[in-house]
Amino acid sequence: MFDDKEKFKLAYLTKISETEGITLDEGSLWDKYKTLVLLLKENMSFNRALTKKSTMYTKQVYYFSMEFLIGRLLHYYLVNMEIEELVREGLAELHINLDDLLQQEVDPGLGNGGLGRLAACFLDSMAFLGISGHGNGMRYKYGLFEQKIRNGFQTEVADNWLKNGYPWEIPRTEKSIVVKFKGTIRAESVQDKLMFYHEHYEPVLAVPYDIPIMSYDNPSNINNLRLWSAEPVANELDFDSFNRGEFDQAVSLRSEVEAISYILYPDDNGRSGKELRLKQEYFFVAAGLGSIMRSFKKRNISLGDFSKWVAVHINDTHPVLCIPELMRILIDEEGLGWDQAWNITVNTISFTNHTIMPEALEKWPVDLFKNLLPRIYMIVEEIDRRFKERLARRFLDDWELIHNTQIIKDGQVQMANLAVIGSSSVNGVAALHTEILKHQVFKDYYRVFSYKFNNKTNGINHRRFLLAANPALSELITEAIGPAWKKNAEELENLLFYKDNSSFIEKLAKVKYLNKCQLAKHVKESQGLEIDPLSIFDVQVKRIHAYKRQLLNILKVMHLYNQVKNDPQSVRDPQTFIFGGKAAPGYHYAKTIIKLINTLANKINKDPEVKQKLKVVFLENFNVSLGELIYPAADISEQISTASKEASGTGNMKFMVNGAVTIGTLDGANVEIKEAVGEENIFIFGLTAEEVLRYSREGGYKSLDQYYSNQSLRLCVDQLVNGFFETAGEEFRVIFDSLLLYNDDYFVLKDFNAYLEAYQKLQDSYAQQDIWHRTSLVNIAKAGIFSSDRSIKEYANQIWKTNFRRFDSHFPDKRFKNKLGTK
Ligand SMILES: *Cc1c(COP(=O)(O)O)cnc(C)c1O
Repeated sequence: MFDDKEKFKLAYLTKISETEGITLDEGSLWDKYKTLVLLLKENMSFNRALTKKSTMYTKQVYYFSMEFLIGRLLHYYLVNMEIEELVREGLAELHINLDDLLQQEVDPGLGNGGLGRLAACFLDSMAFLGISGHGNGMRYKYGLFEQKIRNGFQTEVADNWLKNGYPWEIPRTEKSIVVKFKGTIRAESVQDKLMFYHEHYEPVLAVPYDIPIMSYDNPSNINNLRLWSAEPVANELDFDSFNRGEFDQAVSLRSEVEAISYILYPDDNGRSGKELRLKQEYFFVAAGLGSIMRSFKKRNISLGDFSKWVAVHINDTHPVLCIPELMRILIDEEGLGWDQAWNITVNTISFTNHTIMPEALEKWPVDLFKNLLPRIYMIVEEIDRRFKERLARRFLDDWELIHNTQIIKDGQVQMANLAVIGSSSVNGVAALHTEILKHQVFKDYYRVFSYKFNNKTNGINHRRFLLAANPALSELITEAIGPAWKKNAEELENLLFYKDNSSFIEKLAKVKYLNKCQLAKHVKESQGLEIDPLSIFDVQVKRIHAYKRQLLNILKVMHLYNQVKNDPQSVRDPQTFIFGGKAAPGYHYAKTIIKLINTLANKINKDPEVKQKLKVVFLENFNVSLGELIYPAADISEQISTASKEASGTGNMKFMVNGAVTIGTLDGANVEIKEAVGEENIFIFGLTAEEVLRYSREGGYKSLDQYYSNQSLRLCVDQLVNGFFETAGEEFRVIFDSLLLYNDDYFVLKDFNAYLEAYQKLQDSYAQQDIWHRTSLVNIAKAGIFSSDRSIKEYANQIWKTNFRRFDSHFPDKRFKNKLGTK
């Protein structure tokens, strides 16, 4: 992109005067940051146009997701273009520190956690592999709230991420789509054909904003992330009402429309059941499909071949209205008959399920659905009717099967059922999770459609979470095995060659130490707390949720505290327990967990007898950027969900690729991590998924038995309410009650002993530093299969049936030549 430093400097200086009309001296840090972004974006837009043209006759994949947690882009794109050093040096000569500019960038919080981050990792891997794969999502004006800890409690601050503008996005007003809500449907027979007309609807304008997606070693292939914003169709006040003096109405219509893309629902694995949420879901689905259809028509391909040229993937059930909406477009707008439209729709759409938690399975009351989306409801009813008819023919009088697989029942529209019936592929996100789908959650569908079910174990973008986030480790790895791992993560396995190389192991230990120093520095600067980089960093960062069992970790820390109080020698190595994660604002239990962690931290960190051995930290506002600092600095990765509840997890993979050692249950992808590293390189404990599911079915576990039979556990549980936390009073009663009064739904007490035993083994292993770092090395070496490149290759081959294309040969550009000479 820039031949050399001088050319870069010239381009940069020209850009700043061109766009801001100022000289460098007059510019603020924000101006300087923005200028650098605009410079890169300009080049990317050019390449996007070329990519678009050359992929006109390539199958297009559209990844529909309500959430894209993309993280900051500037540093990552500089790494991908391999121009970070050139730009850093060039800016330094202009007396600008690149790091200062990087700090200016907002981290767009357009997702809650794992699901949104997965979508972002997938965009990267599609771009890397040269798949024409694009994101379709929501441009929320406010992303996930910013978390502030006040007095130990979580408080929420609005995430006004657009307040200075977002220089990566490109508004495409001219490509807006009108989305229709409410109103009535008039049916009319036209030349023997029944036609449906949507009347008296409320129109909303969907305006697209595009963000260029580029990956490593493929900078000339630019894909697109299209995010939709809701605006009034006239984009001005309703002047009719205004002129009639109905000022309030004129303004409120506008705000009602804008409410659709106003804010991200902050519930991870939960659901709101509110009309606004369903509006959001239909809004970005209708806008996305409208624009796909528009660009499809420019390709002059017969509509009958639609599914050969377009794949639509739905990330969980949030975009499942793609199914009836595509039917509506094909029938009402394109004039196809039902059967042909249905064939096209099913063959176009594929679906990923993300959870078996019952509270996260979306359902909508029929009345609400029908009123908001009258034509879509008619189509869903017809899909349901035809499915039932077919089933009744095939399974005769198996009424239970027929009932269980209905879309509309008990006055509600069951979105997961619509997704399974209306798509050609249904996948889980880890091997264990997919088995649970086939044999529990969707067992009836598995009888009907066994061929649709398949597994696609999640992955992470190892270029973001290792190459860009952990430069010291990346350099060490490249020194040892060469740079090929960046393009093929499975090359990391060559590190095994260094397993018994003590000088390499020493270097690995040093890198970890330096990363811990950086995290310690951040904690000191942001929270004023000292943590010792020589202590063990035991980390649990993820959304706060009962099933993720932060409580089990807390009880362990309380137990260690009690031990140290009794016998200071009982804990050998100093340990720092690091927590982080947001709680949904309405999730009282999770918020109490945060307060508990902070109360415990306060007690332990102040206690002169203990603070040399144990420290507890709650890191405020966990997000992608903070993750990039934390994952590289962890010694221990806590993955301790109740078996069967965590569909895959991806945090577990980010820790692993950075050399943290996992303590975890046999849940989600932990099972596959164990298979990859071998049981001597991971600390597994607790009930299996099968045992948990059996207990839940048969009600065989009584938490009180556990409580009475284990002295030290009982002490910890009692300490929640017995005045141990001086200021606490009754505030942790809900947690105490969840364990004893409500019989511990998440098996915290049941797994407590096994957890402590595994933790003791882990500490023994840590005490032998050479063994520990060898374990760490094996974890890095075996992390390759958890790259999202592997996941996306599987999706592309088995579900989307699209080729990978690398475009470097199409646009020979010497300036992008890999410095390491591997091309
Ligand atoms: C990876 C990631 C998650 C998912 O973490 P899990 O441990 O898999 O729950 C959540 N939030 C952010 C910001 C992440 O980067």
